[in-house]
Amino acid sequence: SKFVYFFGKDVTDGKSSMKDMLGGKGANLAEMANLEIPVPPGFTITTEVCVLYLKKKNYSAEVLKQVEEAIDRLEKQNKKKLGDPEDPLLVSVRSGARVSMPGMMDTVLNLGLTDKSVLGLAKKVNDERFAYDCYRRFIAMFGDVVLGVEFRKFDSLITDKKKELGVKSDTDLDSIALKELGERFKEVIKLEKGFEFPQDPKVQLQMAINAVFDSWNNQRAITYRKLNGIDDTWGTAVTVQTMVYGNRGNTSGTGVAFTRNPSTGEKKFFGEYLINAQGEDVVAGIRTPKYINTLGNEIPEAYSQLVDICQRLESHFKDMQDIEFTIQEGKLYMLQTRTGKRTAAAAVKIATDMVAEGLIDKETAVTRVKAENIDQLLHPRIDPKAKLDIIAKGLPASPGAAVGKVVFTAEAAQEMAEAGEKTILVRTETSPEDIGGMAAAQGVLTVRGGMTSHAAVVGRGMGKPCVVGCGDISIDLKSALFMVNGFTIKEHEYITIDGSIGSVMIGKIDLIDAEINYDLRKLLTWADEIRTLGVRTNADNPADAALARELGAEGIGLCRTEHMFFGEDRIPAVREMIMAEDEKARKKALKKLLPMQKEDFLGIFRSMKGLPVTIRLLDPPLHEFLPDKEELDEKLRELETSGDCGKIDEIKKVIKRVVSLKEINPMLGHRGCRLGITYPEIYNMQVRAIMEAACELTAEGIEIVPEIMIPLVGLVKELSLSREEVCKTAETVMAEKGMKIDYKVGTMIELPRAVIIADQIAKEADFFSFGTNDLTQTTFGFSRDDVSKFVPIYQKAGILEHDPFAVLDQEGVGELMKIGIRKGRSVKPKLKIGICGEHGGEPRSIVFAHQIGIDYVSCSPYRIPIARLVAAQSTI
Ligand code: ADP
Ligand code: MG
Ligand code: MG
Repeated sequence: SKFVYFFGKDVTDGKSSMKDMLGGKGANLAEMANLEIPVPPGFTITTEVCVLYLKKKNYSAEVLKQVEEAIDRLEKQNKKKLGDPEDPLLVSVRSGARVSMPGMMDTVLNLGLTDKSVLGLAKKVNDERFAYDCYRRFIAMFGDVVLGVEFRKFDSLITDKKKELGVKSDTDLDSIALKELGERFKEVIKLEKGFEFPQDPKVQLQMAINAVFDSWNNQRAITYRKLNGIDDTWGTAVTVQTMVYGNRGNTSGTGVAFTRNPSTGEKKFFGEYLINAQGEDVVAGIRTPKYINTLGNEIPEAYSQLVDICQRLESHFKDMQDIEFTIQEGKLYMLQTRTGKRTAAAAVKIATDMVAEGLIDKETAVTRVKAENIDQLLHPRIDPKAKLDIIAKGLPASPGAAVGKVVFTAEAAQEMAEAGEKTILVRTETSPEDIGGMAAAQGVLTVRGGMTSHAAVVGRGMGKPCVVGCGDISIDLKSALFMVNGFTIKEHEYITIDGSIGSVMIGKIDLIDAEINYDLRKLLTWADEIRTLGVRTNADNPADAALARELGAEGIGLCRTEHMFFGEDRIPAVREMIMAEDEKARKKALKKLLPMQKEDFLGIFRSMKGLPVTIRLLDPPLHEFLPDKEELDEKLRELETSGDCGKIDEIKKVIKRVVSLKEINPMLGHRGCRLGITYPEIYNMQVRAIMEAACELTAEGIEIVPEIMIPLVGLVKELSLSREEVCKTAETVMAEKGMKIDYKVGTMIELPRAVIIADQIAKEADFFSFGTNDLTQTTFGFSRDDVSKFVPIYQKAGILEHDPFAVLDQEGVGELMKIGIRKGRSVKPKLKIGICGEHGGEPRSIVFAHQIGIDYVSCSPYRIPIARLVAAQSTI
């Protein structure tokens, strides 16, 4: 079989659809070669070889033979030979997985240089400085990537050299200095490794290929895969490619660009470049790169060719591209193209623009935005009314504002996050080792680097607010502080950053939520046209209901009435109801609550006018509404010392009631319909409030279909009895008002027993709603309030992949849901079934809900846009 794919002038074996085998980089280099875009020739060794190599640490004879042949062909095309002392062929050895993992794995440039061939190169191009620049770069990269000698050891030698010569930039180093640096680098390697820097290019190449394959398993690559859900078994491809030189003087250079602005999505060529530099220099932040548009003045021909190629690439791939290029003495070469990472805002703008441009259709546009990412758009920004003490400005690398305590290391950010603390990670520049810390921090601030620096790219990918290149900052790690423009900020002091404009502020600035812009609205409208799954909201007050409607909710899937009981003005009446010694006293207290509940429903119905509203009758155990026992004891002690006898008795009574209501396991205790059945007057009051509100609004001409939901049903009789009571009250109210209103009575399915007898339950229910929080709790036997003690450990140990309270457990809970749906609909084929609970807003769970035939999901207001989008994506 084929292990090595060539790309170049006459032969190109691969194409862009072969990413699984060739990696993204290799496949797209082949595609560009096919499009006759100038690409230096090379070949790609497949990911399959990587997987085999990582298992056995060697290669089959066939692989070696095919590599040999490819080198041969490469030498012929270039009319140069590896290691030729007169005119050596130099190559880069590049990694590339199926999906891009920016900067996670390693690349070696200028491979093929030796003590001998460097002389040949110098002579051939008549530029000694250039040759030694390549050689010292190669030795350092090879030392770092292949031999595992820390890069900073080489870097500090460069710094020393610059100091010694009194120069600032690497480009100021002359050929003598560069040559000497190369010698020093080799000494470092000898000292560290105990052997000489290899002088045989074939040996160099083999070692470099091995190292790239091995880099699949380095720690930062593993972490990156974990964070991004990338399969560990894929492996990386290796591409060996003819070198082109951006470091050959002032008509040479290198850069990276995006075909559109990856931060805002604006249709404008966007990028950075450096004159007289090699690839890594731009990303590494060694020199500050220039904006791409000035390249038009410096090397006009190459620039216009670049713009042209970028346009071709974009219309070919029908998506925004992220490209790498190098110009060698005025001649342009493309070195990489891939789908560009972008912020959520940019994703939305690009997708909608491309539909307008006729490049893609609406269905495609809807798939172009990652649902989890639109969360970013609904994320906080700085309150325009807030007073800002801006202490520094950097580049706006990843939008959104973040507030947190200053930390200087990734570890600190992670530790603080575990302790529930919010942080801003402040670094000179970030490197791939920092990604764990970046994920844990609220935002990232760097001193060096441009819009395409590591921090910027990763920040945008994560949706993490990020300000980079804030050059005024100087970090003093020893004293754990940073200084900027006369301010000193210590570790753990609060700062605020605004990644949308690049500002840094002292202290905690007020943030506000963002609103949905025109483009997002348009995209979501398309999603609505495509999806079949309904999206409702969980809301229990008029404000949330109105917000949810604004965000596109098609009704309320869960209105928790107990939340209304907690209101300042309610709690005394609620307590009176609970303290009541008999039914009569209880009814008296409930009478006080009735107008308040009715007021709530009037408000909610009004904000939802015309849309269905599902109201769950009281669910939690009553003791939740009473004060804490310890607080009461405390108060009692106080009163006893002050001798206020009247109040002492009162408190004692409350304490007695608290004690009598105490349950060992309240979540499995006297709650849900069990309460409704033992104290029917509570549910009666609630139903009366609902029906009176509905009647009044109907009289006003606002059509309301209340859906009354009975919680925690496990036995058919629980539901039939509750239903009877609900209907009795409803009929009474309607008779009183002289009106007839359509209302429904349904139930939560949140106990395994309810699932199993769902066919019987369906006979008594107008609708089902899976309460997936409780269903998860009761299926696993995990108390959802105590899972944090062991679920993270389960996840680390690989016992559980996700927290089942966050991501629906499809295998267990999901299977139960399928049974419930099947049984329910065996009795009522059109039975309406929804999901409420946290899972209703979680993308993977929403896809599952769509697949198993759920009618609607219900989630908190800010998750609604996500749910609308995922629901559409589920159908495509
Ligand atoms: P990464 O995946 O980290 O971006 P790359 O393999 O793309 O690594 O290479 C790192 C840098 O080296 C890039 O800037 C790239 O453009 C440059 N580079 C890679 N191969 C060559 C080559 N053959 N000639 C010149 N520059 C190269
Ligand atoms: Mg790299
Ligand atoms: Mg690259």
